Amino acid sequence: MDKTRKNGHTQGYERYHIDTQEAPDRIRWPSRFQVRVGKLGLAKHLITELIHTRFDLPTVTSRPCMYGVFSGPVGGFAPRPHLCVGCLRCTTEFPEFVRVSPNPKRRALGDSYFTYQQVETVAYEAETGRVPVKGAGYRGPFGGKGWDGMWTDMSEIVRPTRDGIHGREFISTVVDIGSKASFLCFDVSGAPQQPLPHTFSIPVPFIFDRVHPGLESAGLYKILAQAAAEVQTLQVIPLEYILALNLRGAQIVPLVGAGDQERLVLLPFRPRMIEMDGWSEGLAESIHSIWPEAQVALRIPFARGEDLLDYADRGVGVFHLTADYHGRSDDGGFIFDQIRRAHGAFVEAGRRDEVTLLGSGGLVAAEHVPKAMIAGLDAVGLDLPLLVALQGRLMGEFDGRTDVAFELPRPIPFEWGVQRLKNLAAAWRDQLLEVLGAMGLREVRRLRGEMGRALFMVQLEQEAFAGIEGYDG
Ligand code: SF4
Repeated sequence: MDKTRKNGHTQGYERYHIDTQEAPDRIRWPSRFQVRVGKLGLAKHLITELIHTRFDLPTVTSRPCMYGVFSGPVGGFAPRPHLCVGCLRCTTEFPEFVRVSPNPKRRALGDSYFTYQQVETVAYEAETGRVPVKGAGYRGPFGGKGWDGMWTDMSEIVRPTRDGIHGREFISTVVDIGSKASFLCFDVSGAPQQPLPHTFSIPVPFIFDRVHPGLESAGLYKILAQAAAEVQTLQVIPLEYILALNLRGAQIVPLVGAGDQERLVLLPFRPRMIEMDGWSEGLAESIHSIWPEAQVALRIPFARGEDLLDYADRGVGVFHLTADYHGRSDDGGFIFDQIRRAHGAFVEAGRRDEVTLLGSGGLVAAEHVPKAMIAGLDAVGLDLPLLVALQGRLMGEFDGRTDVAFELPRPIPFEWGVQRLKNLAAAWRDQLLEVLGAMGLREVRRLRGEMGRALFMVQLEQEAFAGIEGYDG
């Protein structure tokens, strides 16, 4: 809950909430199914039906689909596949002239990592702001590679579930960004001997990351910055865009490189955090001297072999670790293992609370947020899902390292874009609340590094099937 203040006085508490509203797709996605109808077979069928129904045209032209696929102006001669739900009634009843098949164009909306099903889910979340319910009808696999190989333990036997999503119990999704002392020491006068905590809070454990350099635009950053402000999270934006657009606000995190040292003073607002794109001693000193209140974040790829503890000693309080859009680090490792390694290094040194770990890359579904936090992140950075929410399209394999294989609609209407991003944020937060509720957790901060909540498919299969003939795990 947020305290609301007026004239310096506490006015009460306001429960955090993201406003959602329907924001329908502006561009029609390719239909899920292709419906092919043999004209001759259909004509013969219609003649029979006309005689049978005594020329009841509306009835005849609507058959055999109750979803309206065959109810256009010329019935089944020009079917409307976007209405098809794939129930297969038509092709079961009339296999001789109706064929329904998955639409390859729909499948091309995703790539091998960000699958078309995940694209569909993000699009639904951005359109409605609601949690997609698959429920008992789910027919997909329950395990797989990457994040799908990890399950979360929601055992109710040892802890009661909590109701977060429906609001009867409050579950906090607030996270702190910055550094705190690992322990407190006081001198003889009672004054603390170490620096006081230097943090600020955001109400959701995800921030909006910078856009891939090949897809950046002024219009896009304006939409992202506004949505981030309304969600009360952060938006990482390269300094040149901030200066060119005169962007300002607590949500904006300037991304600066070694060449930006001189321009830091030009920032039109007091930033809460400044992100360095790679380490530069001179740049860090400039940030500390020009904006002493700002958190200094270091953006650095996972697995570069650099010693994060060493940077922490030099005053870095926030690490933004990045993988490519397929969740791969430079050495080919998966983001989950990389998060574990970074988190573990600070835990072993007894200094985990001194830093905040953010991570980006390969986080393309709502469930990836709690999983990444269980692995050890404080909060995640969202990248490609934000663009998919704006109806951007993958145009082949796109991991962010190679040529840009992604297309954004242009122009993107401002209000529509902001609402789509807010809807996505609300849907992902609700799903996080579901996970926390099912685990009996009352605040998301307790999820960080909580590996006791993780189950791994490979391990469980080994325990269950090792030694059984035919098992080759
Ligand atoms: S599969 Fe079902 S929804 Fe699709 S056209 Fe046939 S009857 Fe209609």
